[in-house]
Amino acid sequence: MTEDLAAPRRMQPGELEFTAPKRRKPPRHLADLTTAERREVVQSLGLPAFRADQVSRHYFSRLSDDTDSWTDIAAAQREALAQALTPSMMTRVREVTCDRGATRKTLWRLHDGALVESVLMRYPDRVTMCVSSQVGCGMNCPFCATGQAGLTRNMSTGEIVEQVVAGARELAAGEVPGGPGRVSNVVFMGMGEPLANYDVVLRAVRRLTEKSPSGLGMSARGITVSTVGLVPRIRQLATEGIPVTLAVSLHAPDDELRDTLVPVNTRWKVAEVLDAAWEYASATHRRVSIEYALIKDINDQAWRADVLAKRLRGKLVHVNLIPLNPTPGSKWTASRPEDEREFVRRLEAGGIPVTVRDTRGREIDGACGQLAAAQ
Ligand code: SAH
Repeated sequence: MTEDLAAPRRMQPGELEFTAPKRRKPPRHLADLTTAERREVVQSLGLPAFRADQVSRHYFSRLSDDTDSWTDIAAAQREALAQALTPSMMTRVREVTCDRGATRKTLWRLHDGALVESVLMRYPDRVTMCVSSQVGCGMNCPFCATGQAGLTRNMSTGEIVEQVVAGARELAAGEVPGGPGRVSNVVFMGMGEPLANYDVVLRAVRRLTEKSPSGLGMSARGITVSTVGLVPRIRQLATEGIPVTLAVSLHAPDDELRDTLVPVNTRWKVAEVLDAAWEYASATHRRVSIEYALIKDINDQAWRADVLAKRLRGKLVHVNLIPLNPTPGSKWTASRPEDEREFVRRLEAGGIPVTVRDTRGREIDGACGQLAAAQ
């Protein structure tokens, strides 16, 4: 299979569609399909359509991939159904934990050998799963570990949903300290640019929010889609009628600096990205989150905080400052504490709600594609 050996390529700034070399597709999984499509698959096996709903319930409600426990289905049919609807999507290569087990980062090997990461973070009041949507990323942001390797391929809806279900299984089984629990939040802040894999990500959001047996039954409000700022896709997302939280990775309030930190800015400027974000906020009534990684002496000057505050004033917005998680070999590092404090102070003085992201998982390279890069 020479196709599988094809070298990854980088997306050009502004390029929306995935055109990486063709490779073997991930196995089809029920999470890729609507309820009606699952029934068709089951009927094509010569089995009654309602079996599709039963298998879907085992997957989404019972979180079970163990066919022995599918006792409402005749034993002779279970294997064929599992092969058709719940094939193995990925295997756990490593799991590293910190925060006494409350933060767990998993490295997954996909069917074609590709490696991706997901992170489970348990807080007193919620559990957040951070998931990957692409193998690698084509956006080439110089401070991000994933950006350095380029884009290998898009992930499938099944591969995205399975990361969440795997976390849900760990929680349900009581493997995460704090007792049995549920996944309440999903953030598309793992590897990849979710809006560059738009249709697949949207389907994943639908599976996460639809009620069982169709999906996991989560609230859209608990789901955050984070983007470098692919303006046409932000506009499209605003029309979908799914009020997920939109996070925009701004990292600089001015085009001159943002052109270098988020190269896609050469295609869609700060003003256009923010306009699309405000359009999103008014269509969904959801507060937009502006992500801003604080990088020492690069984007953390007090005057930039003032410019940022001015650009955001009066909008349905909140700023999430992220102390830079330095990637191996990078010359950049996190801001000095006093500069971070001043940045926060200036934003607050400008009337902008601001939080500083906790640095969970930092000691396990929790943030940004570093585990896969190290492998
Ligand atoms: N491609 C999407 C989502 C993935 S990254 C996006 O860019 O929004 C999730 C967030 O982590 C983004 O805001 C990204 O800019 C940020 N990030 C990437 N590398 C980082 C690093 N080394 N330190 C801190 N934040 C980082």
